[in-house]
Amino acid sequence: MRYVNMTMKPLKSLKKFANNKFLVFSCILFLIIALSAVTAYSISARQINLSFIKQQLSIASETIRLRLATSVDSELALVSKMADTPVIRQYFMNPSDPVLKSQADDEFTLYKEHFNNKILYWVNDVDKIFYSTGNAPYVVNPDDPENYWYNLTLYETEKFIFNINYNPDLGQIYLWVNVPVFVKTQTGKKPIGLIGTGINLTDFSNFVVSSYHKFDENITTYMFNKYNEITSAVDYTLVENKVRLEEHLGETGKELIKVARELSEGESRNFIYDNKMYLVNSIPAMEWYMIVSYPVPGLLSLNQAMNTVFFSMLVLILFLFIIMNIFIARSENAMAKQNLRLLEANKKAEFASRAKSDFLAKMSHEIRTPMNAITGMAELLLRGELSCEARGYARDIKQAGNNLVSIINDILDLSKIEAGKLEIVPVKYMLSSLINDTVNIIRMRLREKPIRFFTNIDGNIPNSLIGDEVRIRQILLNLLSNAVKYTEKGHIGLTITIDKRDDKQIVLRMDVADTGKGIKPEHQANLFDEFVRVDMKKNQGIEGTGLGLPITKRLCAAMDGKLSMKSEYGTGSVFTVIIPQGIESKEPFAVVEEPERKKVLVYEGRVVYAKSICWTLENLAVPHAVVTNQEDFVATLYRAEWFYVFSGYGLYEKIKPLMNQDDSIFRGGKKPHLALMVEWGTEAYIPNVRFVSIPIQSLSIANTLNGKADRRDYFESSGVIRHTFPHARLLIVDDIATNLKVGEGLLSPYNTKVDTCLSGAEAIELVKRNKYDLIFMDHMMPEMDGIEATAVIRAWEKEFACQQIPIIALTANAVVGMREMFIENGFNDFLSKPIDVSKLDEILNCWIPAEKRANNNEQITTNKENKGQDKPSLPAIPHVDTAKGIAMLGGKSDTYRKVLSMFCKDIDERLPQLQIMPETNTLPAFIIQVHSLKSVSASIGAQELSSNAAGLEAAGKAADMVFIREHLPGFTVQLAELEENIRTVLSGSV
Ligand code: ADP
Repeated sequence: MRYVNMTMKPLKSLKKFANNKFLVFSCILFLIIALSAVTAYSISARQINLSFIKQQLSIASETIRLRLATSVDSELALVSKMADTPVIRQYFMNPSDPVLKSQADDEFTLYKEHFNNKILYWVNDVDKIFYSTGNAPYVVNPDDPENYWYNLTLYETEKFIFNINYNPDLGQIYLWVNVPVFVKTQTGKKPIGLIGTGINLTDFSNFVVSSYHKFDENITTYMFNKYNEITSAVDYTLVENKVRLEEHLGETGKELIKVARELSEGESRNFIYDNKMYLVNSIPAMEWYMIVSYPVPGLLSLNQAMNTVFFSMLVLILFLFIIMNIFIARSENAMAKQNLRLLEANKKAEFASRAKSDFLAKMSHEIRTPMNAITGMAELLLRGELSCEARGYARDIKQAGNNLVSIINDILDLSKIEAGKLEIVPVKYMLSSLINDTVNIIRMRLREKPIRFFTNIDGNIPNSLIGDEVRIRQILLNLLSNAVKYTEKGHIGLTITIDKRDDKQIVLRMDVADTGKGIKPEHQANLFDEFVRVDMKKNQGIEGTGLGLPITKRLCAAMDGKLSMKSEYGTGSVFTVIIPQGIESKEPFAVVEEPERKKVLVYEGRVVYAKSICWTLENLAVPHAVVTNQEDFVATLYRAEWFYVFSGYGLYEKIKPLMNQDDSIFRGGKKPHLALMVEWGTEAYIPNVRFVSIPIQSLSIANTLNGKADRRDYFESSGVIRHTFPHARLLIVDDIATNLKVGEGLLSPYNTKVDTCLSGAEAIELVKRNKYDLIFMDHMMPEMDGIEATAVIRAWEKEFACQQIPIIALTANAVVGMREMFIENGFNDFLSKPIDVSKLDEILNCWIPAEKRANNNEQITTNKENKGQDKPSLPAIPHVDTAKGIAMLGGKSDTYRKVLSMFCKDIDERLPQLQIMPETNTLPAFIIQVHSLKSVSASIGAQELSSNAAGLEAAGKAADMVFIREHLPGFTVQLAELEENIRTVLSGSV
């Protein structure tokens, strides 16, 4: 726990640090950004406002300028036109001519209307009389300085057209427009008078003032002429007194005049000066200038201030960003350090976990050794004489010991998985053998429970697969053992089908279904967590650690598979494993040859089994019908031509009379073959009836329908010896003396020379020394097995022999795919144990050269003596089918006796070894031992013992120590009892 604290403390302070600083920083940053935004906004708002003012000023000034310019231009044009009128010109030349005068008067009257009641005046240069609208005529004295305008108009026309003056009496401003009247002379033109008009600018000034005031009362307006005299102003006295702009506004006035003089035509200029905004433009026609001003107090300083604030904020943001980056860099640094610390802590934790796993591995080994002693001693105690109480204690010790070892095994498995030490070792394996072994173990576990166990295995699955066989076995056994543990009645089913497949890989779907207690929905979620055992009230008394499912789940995951579960409380559960496996060879697991011609009638009252067998027949494409009662059976039997009838063993008595009828009664003139389905371990013999063990497997059905041997049908395998081989020499290699005796017995009718030896090494020596025609080599032998010995022999032959000796493998594992495996390893063929005499005959005829044969004229039958249900010539031995044993030895009871006594000797030798509980490292030897016993006990007719040995062998292969520990002691007791019984019978009957 120390490393956990180490990581927690810095994490907390880091969090606190980050929390505080980050909050402050982000608040400051937010405020600054918000403030900058507001400043930027108000600056731009002011700018917009300012430009709006500018725009308004320029619109207003432009309107005035245009209005003034147009009115001046139009007055000038009218006056000029008058001055150019011939009537007026003639009148000006002769003012005393009354006719001309009256004509001119008419003309003037006409024009007056055009001048729209403005002042119109004219003077001719002859009498110099000044006529004007609204005034009495008077004579102008051009020499009077007051009348400077007269001479200027006539003689300085170009410069003097406009004149503005103010009449203090009338309080009005006038713009005078004066145009001379010319006559043409030889030298050019000569002025003969003038015509003028006066435009009252008082209204105009008022308009200017009022229009600006209307717009904004802060606006001040001035107009000034080329003499800088103010010609319009709000303060009218300025105009009256012709005050000059610079006198009135001082320096500002000078500045404004300077700007005004620089203007080009039509240009207006805007600028801020001394806290006021000015607009200056000109009225070129009059050489007047206009100034509009607007006070913008503090605008500049405000703008400046705002700009300062804005830029300083930008600088501040930059600064904060720099700080922020430094801070982030620092915290990243801190994080990196933190990560480093975490990594170190993690390493330490990993180291600790590895150390824990190693410790567990060592400890479990250390614990298991004394535990073996404890359980072993308890077992010995139980065999001896004990009081009832002491027996109870000893049983408890043994039971508790077994439980403890199983817990240790699970913990070890889990710790291996957790430490990542679980290695998945893909190997080539036979699915048939995996299923066989699994079924053997589960059948043994189920023995005392009223539960029906069925298997539905898809025959299309390739038999030769690549995967971790040991782990797949473990997964299946875990799930099936749970099903057995948590089911009291009903059934348990193992279904294996194809989920997906391609050329190289197959995804298998394995369903383990039961009708057990089921799991409550609220318990289902954490079922795969370690040490979780649920519904303990109901499951009281059921042993377990809660490690099976998590281990199974992890094993599945390690093999890229997955485990899922569906369960209904009180009804049952289905555990599903989906797992990919490599395809070694595509040959399917079970195939029925010409299935359409092999119609099957199934008669089975146990619905679960009936369904299962139908599933399998369907899967193998075999046409079939199922009946569940006698009436239907009778009706259906004669309705069609059946190839086989599969019936429950218990129904045999009922169907026997029907099946024993003549062929002619049946459709097609041939009665169907009969196969009886027997519960595992049931011993039965009925001539010409085939037996298939429950759970019915697709392979057994396929073998039955293909007419191949499956579970040895010894009584049917009688045959006639076709030839003897007096000149041949044979070698039998087997580590069990009994098997050698059996072999010798079976070969004795062939009148051939038979050598035997007990090991591969001995066999090699014999081969080097003698010339053999055929070798029978056992597969599983300690030290050097049959495959290794054959490899050595083949290598030796390559160098020293001119031809190969046929070698036939002997094996008790007769599953599909074995033949190919042996041939690949240098064997020529294989013969399964217990040996089928007809198969033996076939092999001898096939492999022994023809020149070594002698024809057998007497036609010896191999099981003549005991054919049918003849009573064996030996007294009955409990748990031994002596008739079967004798039949298997070619019907020779004396050979059988010899085999029995050899068997006792073998047991004597092996029993002490079997009484030592195997360890993981001694398992291979243990498997060989029980494997041998499986075949040897089958060959003497001790079927139950053979089945139990098969169960132990399968458990050995699955490394299921719990099972072995549970069943091995019983098995050894059974073995000892059998030996005892055989000895008694043999001594009594000799
Ligand atoms: P164990 O069987 O050793 O207790 P497992 O991990 O194999 O541990 O199973 C965990 C629990 O799941 C069991 O205690 C049992 O309550 C429940 N369980 C497992 N398989 C089944 C099943 N087939 N039917 C009902 N309950 C099951």
